[in-house]
Formats: sequence, C-alpha cells, structure tokens
Amino acid sequence: MDTSDSVNSLPFVGPKYQELLEKLGITTIEDLLNHVPFRYEDYQTVKEFTDIEIDQTLTIEGTIEKLINQYTRTGKQMQIIEVSDGQRKISGVWFYQPYLLRSYKMGDRIALSGKIGFFGRRIAILNPQHEKIVEDKVQIHTGRILPIYHETDGISSKWLRRRLKDVYDKITNHNQDIYTLHFPQSFDELTSARERLAYQELYELHIQNLKRKAQWQKNAPSAYQIKNDDLSDFISKLPFSLTDSQLKSIKEITNDLKSEYAMNRLLQGDVGTGKTVVAATACYLTNMDGYQTVLMAPTKILAKQHYDSFREMFSHFGTKIKLITGTDKFDGEQADILIGTHALLNYVEKLKNPALVIIDEQHKFGVKQRENLTKFTTKGQLPNVLTMTATPIPRTIVMTLYGDLELSELTEPPKGRQKITTWVVPNEKRKKAYEWIEKEIQEKKVQVFVVCPIIDESAHETMADVKSVKAQYQKIKKQFPNLKVGLIHGKLKDKEKSTVIEQFEKGTVDILVATPMVEVGINVPNATIMVIEAADRFGLSQLHQLRGRVGRSSKKSYCLLFTESQSKDTLERLEQLSKIHSGAQLAELDLKHRGPGEIFGTRQHGTWKLKFATWDDIPLMKRAKEEAIAKHSKADLQFKKSRLE
Ligand code: ADP
Ligand code: MG
Repeated sequence: MDTSDSVNSLPFVGPKYQELLEKLGITTIEDLLNHVPFRYEDYQTVKEFTDIEIDQTLTIEGTIEKLINQYTRTGKQMQIIEVSDGQRKISGVWFYQPYLLRSYKMGDRIALSGKIGFFGRRIAILNPQHEKIVEDKVQIHTGRILPIYHETDGISSKWLRRRLKDVYDKITNHNQDIYTLHFPQSFDELTSARERLAYQELYELHIQNLKRKAQWQKNAPSAYQIKNDDLSDFISKLPFSLTDSQLKSIKEITNDLKSEYAMNRLLQGDVGTGKTVVAATACYLTNMDGYQTVLMAPTKILAKQHYDSFREMFSHFGTKIKLITGTDKFDGEQADILIGTHALLNYVEKLKNPALVIIDEQHKFGVKQRENLTKFTTKGQLPNVLTMTATPIPRTIVMTLYGDLELSELTEPPKGRQKITTWVVPNEKRKKAYEWIEKEIQEKKVQVFVVCPIIDESAHETMADVKSVKAQYQKIKKQFPNLKVGLIHGKLKDKEKSTVIEQFEKGTVDILVATPMVEVGINVPNATIMVIEAADRFGLSQLHQLRGRVGRSSKKSYCLLFTESQSKDTLERLEQLSKIHSGAQLAELDLKHRGPGEIFGTRQHGTWKLKFATWDDIPLMKRAKEEAIAKHSKADLQFKKSRLE
C-alpha cells in the first residue's frame, strides 16, 4: 500500500464511502492520515467498579449481563447494556442505537468510556464509547486518549479511527509525529508532536511568503506608475470629511501607486469604517493618469451597491463607470472603472490598461486572494492590487499568512457615528420588544432587519435554513399586519433578490427577514434596527458583522439579540456586545469562548485552514518567521554571490 493510493484501496471503502470521504477533503490515504483530530477525550484511566465515583470521566471493563431495548416515557428509543465485574453492575445507556444490541451478546467482555452518572437509580454511563475486548487486540475507542475528528453524515470518528488503524497496520513508512496525533500515548507526547508539525507548517508558510514577495518585486516593475497625485478636487467634493485612518491609508496607497513596484496591499477595516471611499480615491488617481481600474465584489448585490456609490462619488468628473454582472455585452467599450463580480475576469483581456485591481473580499478574505492576482495579469504586466476586508485578523496573523502583503488599517468609524445600542432580549421580553419596534417604525419611519441563524454554520444555507427563515417571515407578517415585510435568502433567484433589496432600499419594505447573507453588504442607511434571532448560535464577531448593517448614518441605531437560552454563560457572552464595539476585540473573545475540549484551538480563520498550527500559536509564528527570514536572506545572498562569480 502506498500513501498516494486512493482511499478505495482500503478495506470497507467502496464508492459510497469514497464519496463521503471526499466531502471531508479526503481522496488519498495520505489525505486520510492528514485528517488530524481537532480535539481529544481523556479516557486513559481504567478503574475497578469499586473505585468509581460519580462525575468521573474514565473507562470500565466488564462482562455483559443484560442487553435491553426499551422506550422512555416520552417515547424515545433507548438501549441499555448492563455490565458486571462479577459483583457490581454499571449500565451503558444510549438512544436510538438499536444496532448496538446486535453488535454484542451476553457474556461478551466490553469496555465503556465516558462520564459516570445516574440513569434513574442505575449507576450508568450515558452515551459512552464502547468496544469489545478481544485478547491480543489493541483497543482503539476506549481506555486511551481518544481522538475526535471532524465528521460528516455517515463518517464518524469511530469509523475513521478504525480505518486509520488499518492503514498504520499496513504501511511501513510514516511520519511519526502525525502518527502520534492519531494514536498518542500521553498528552506530553501529543503536545510536542503537534508543536513540531505546527512549527514546520508555519515555517513553510513564511518561506513561501518571502519567495512570493521577492518574486513580486523582481517581476513587477509597475508599468503603471502614476504621476499626478493631487486628490484635492475629489476629496473636496465628498459629502463628508475623511477620518484620520482613511487619510493615512490613502497616503499609503498613493505612495504605492507612484512607486516603481506594483502595489500589493491589504486594506483592513471593520464594517462601516469606510473602505469604499478609500478604494474610490485609488480609482480616481489611477484614472487621472489615463488608466483603467477594476473593482471586483463577492456578490452581485454588493457590486451593484459599489456601482451606485461610485456613480455618486464620481458624478462631477465624467468618469465612465460600467457595471458587469455576468451576461453583459462588453465589446471593447472602454470604461474607466469596471465594477462587477467574478464575471469581470472574462473581460480583463479586453481592457486597454487595467492598472489597478481592487478586490472586495468582505469576510471571505484569503480564499482567492493569490489566485486573483495572477489572473489579472495582462500583456505580461501585473496591475496594482488592493484587497479590502472586514475580517478582523490580528496583525501577527496577517503577517504570518500574508507576509507578502502591505497592510493599511482603518481603525475608527467616521465621526458622528453613534454606537449601536445593543440589548440582549430574553424570551419573556419579546412581546414588549415587538411593540417598541412597531412604534419606532411608525414614528420615525425607520426600517428593520430580522436575521435568522443558519443551522449548520459550517455549511452554506440549506433547505432547512430556508424553511426556518420562511417560518419566521410568516410570524413577523402576523406580528406586524400593518407593515410591509420582505424576505430574502440565498436560495432565491438573483432577480428576486435584487427586487427585494430594491424595495428595501426604496423604503417600500419596512422589515426585511433574512438569513445571515445580509452580512455581506446591504447598505441601507435608513435601517436602524437589527433583530437577531437565536443570537446564541452565532459567534460574537459574526453578530458584530451583522450589527454593522445598521448604524450606517447619523441616526441612532439598535441591535436586539433575541435568545431563548437561559444559560448564564451564554447570556454573559452575548452581553459583551452591549459593551464592546470593536470587531478585533470581539474576535479575540470568540477565541476564548471556544469549547473547552478544543485543546488545540481553532485552525480555521475565515476559510484559511491550517493543518497543525492554530491561531493562538503566536510565539511559534514569530519564531518560524524569524528563522524563515534568516534562512531566506542567506539563500538570497548565495544567489547574488553566485551571479557575481
Ligand atoms: P465598509 O468599510 O463597511 O465597506 P462603507 O465604505 O460602505 O464601509 O461606508 C459605510 C458608510 O459610511 C457609507 O455610507 C459611506 O458613505 C460612509 N462614510 C465613509 N467614510 C465616511 C466619513 N469619513 N464620514 C462620514 N461617512 C462616511
Ligand atoms: Mg464594504
């Protein structure tokens, strides 16, 4: 067996499992080995029945005396396996797992791992890990540090553990540290293996960054060096004065555009900090020198919005702005600024001199970043590239992942913006809240968002989400019979979406019920109330992003977090939003609130995945960076030397 073989060369992996595994990104055996656990349970302690205490997490071993299938009073199907040590008895209790009773028989030796408690009057382990004890066979689900994997329907951690065991029994050559992640003997061993892998991963990332940066500077003497940097006309015609950090970012961008290298800059700023106008100044400068610019947005809605605001900002200058969203004919017509979605990529070839490409990544920053850069190369020339994001990534992490980028930050909202007053609303206050909302709408003619959560946060909107948002829409319609209520979700046709949005923008819809898709870019300054249903299901940063859809004018705005949760921790967590108004700070709190089982922290930032390292590995990141720089500059020196010789 070779690690590059397909997973279908494994026993028990046929076409069906192959397909399921693919959902986890696993196609080869190597991928399977690299599918490392995201947390562990400690079931190492094996205890005699006489030694156990309630609430202990441990493993017991005994003989099966009874196998029972029964129903609870509420009609839940339940399986009980009674295990004995010869004297005492402990029961394993499961729900809806009838196969269990077929997998075991009376007299079998069995191991159960889990937390000791009561079930009725029985001493029991609820929903334990279980495994038949067979002589000379290693236990892989019980009595050990148990790895838990990301799963998908049909592929459980248990199933993965068995396959991994099969693989390691067959292959001779493997990375010992990765093996340790799957089959750790101790937490010490686990920690050091993980650290070595994480370090290596980060180090390689830095090396790639350094190479890319060197490459960029070597290959990218900009063909598009702007000469005229006088922005005063443009700035004086804006309906507001720019914030300090907007001015600073504009300065940084101007310098890049004037320099002999192509710009590669990231503009980071919380929702509402005003990134668009910064982008517009860059377009203005580029355009003054006779070059074209391209602005690419993640959705059609956003593209349209940028188009509208650009038309307004450029209304005094006769700038030709063109919106492209897919089916448009663009036969060589020479626009000054092209705004659109990814469909724009099809038009780049037709452009005369696209000197500046702006990519609005919103919250998905990182996904296509690098891919995009090369796609915009025309006639062998790299354009200046500005990427915008509202993702609150700490600076250290930006420097690790995107060390080849320059960074500009918008750190403060425009003056005159009031903080969005945020309330956590428990169920019993819902009625009152609705009354208040109705009054606000009637008296102040403001508009309201009602956002429902997405059920599975890892996935895109599913049909179940659509069903729940539709149900909410009906409820709201009933609740506010005198108001006009609209509905928007991802499964609507583009046409339907833009109709609803237009109505909301025009003010003919008072309340817009939506899935979190509104997070990406609806700009309706008259909307001053954001209601979030089941707020406990969201992370704080996500709530903050949603909240950023209101408070887009000088009008007082509110965010109401509805929750049915009674949990003190949850309510306290949500209350943070009433106090904290910085996206970065809330993102950090999110890191802290992660499940306690996740000893290794989160490996995913937006859609950027690390395999071994996590976003908490700041010291490792720094060490990897220093060593990568040392190594890289040495290689660079050798290269230069060899050219001299
Ligand atoms: P984001 O950074 O979330 O993309 P936008 O660029 O959409 O933010 O700006 C949000 C709103 O703030 C827009 O209506 C914009 O016109 C306005 N705005 C931007 N800069 C300023 C400023 N300096 N003063 C007042 N309003 C501003
Ligand atoms: Mg924006």
